[in-house]
Amino acid sequence: MTRPSGGAHVLAVRGLQASVAGKSILRGVDLEVRSGEVHAVMGPNGSGKSTLSHVLMGRPGYEVTSGEVTLDGQDILAMPTWERAQAGLFLGMQYPIEVPGVSLEAVLKESFAAGGRDPREVDDLVESEVDRVGFDARLLKRALNVDFSGGEKKRSETLQLAVLRPLFAMLDEVDSGLDVDALRDVARRVAQAAAHEGLGVIAITHYTRLLSELRPDRVHVLSAGRIVASGGPELADELEAQGYGAWGNDEPARPPGVAPAAPGLS
Ligand code: ADP
Ligand code: MG
Repeated sequence: MTRPSGGAHVLAVRGLQASVAGKSILRGVDLEVRSGEVHAVMGPNGSGKSTLSHVLMGRPGYEVTSGEVTLDGQDILAMPTWERAQAGLFLGMQYPIEVPGVSLEAVLKESFAAGGRDPREVDDLVESEVDRVGFDARLLKRALNVDFSGGEKKRSETLQLAVLRPLFAMLDEVDSGLDVDALRDVARRVAQAAAHEGLGVIAITHYTRLLSELRPDRVHVLSAGRIVASGGPELADELEAQGYGAWGNDEPARPPGVAPAAPGLS
């Protein structure tokens, strides 16, 4: 799959419905992201945020039952995951997978080679990024994510993003498990990629603290598998103040006698 070049790129999700293990999770998602735009997707636990990212990246086990996803008009859903990556999609996972025996350096070089780029460029690119994302270069030679701290995993995802230069990145709770310094480094690097390198971003998060660094152009609320509200950055502030109550959610009803969860955005 060759990567479209030049001009602004468009990732378009239309009427996307998907199920997992026979259970309908996404129930009609519409989303359009262009190069350089940052879209935040917020929503209560279980609303389908991670499912959306997995379906876009083609994780096995998710069945698309309706709708389409295109990147510059190309049908993404027809491609295997590796082709989606080569077409320019990137997923920063909520829980990055540990890969014993495979180093981050090897992953980056293989990715370059697979995409027709010279793997020898990786070293220079990595060198110019380690300080920006606060990544300990010694981790490059270690098994990917194995015994990395939560912060190291997310900095590693950010380094991959910066070096691989995808067209669109989905970041699933990149803020989870990060201390304030790591959060700032990661958010800043992603914001720079959007502002200066034309990266389109779908940032999945519960928290406005990520969004204070990574200023979103649009904020969407996902509830029970549908986008139920979209707006500017002020929508995130509204959510911080009011929670998701106004939009409801589809979490199973509590059994009688169980106290309601504490209010907030968890
Ligand atoms: P979020 O990321 O918004 O918290 P998820 O997309 O992880 O939500 O999950 C949405 C719903 O899909 C949840 O009810 C979850 O239990 C269900 N789900 C996700 N993955 C699977 C799976 N592999 N098998 C069964 N149910 C799943
Ligand atoms: Mg999730």
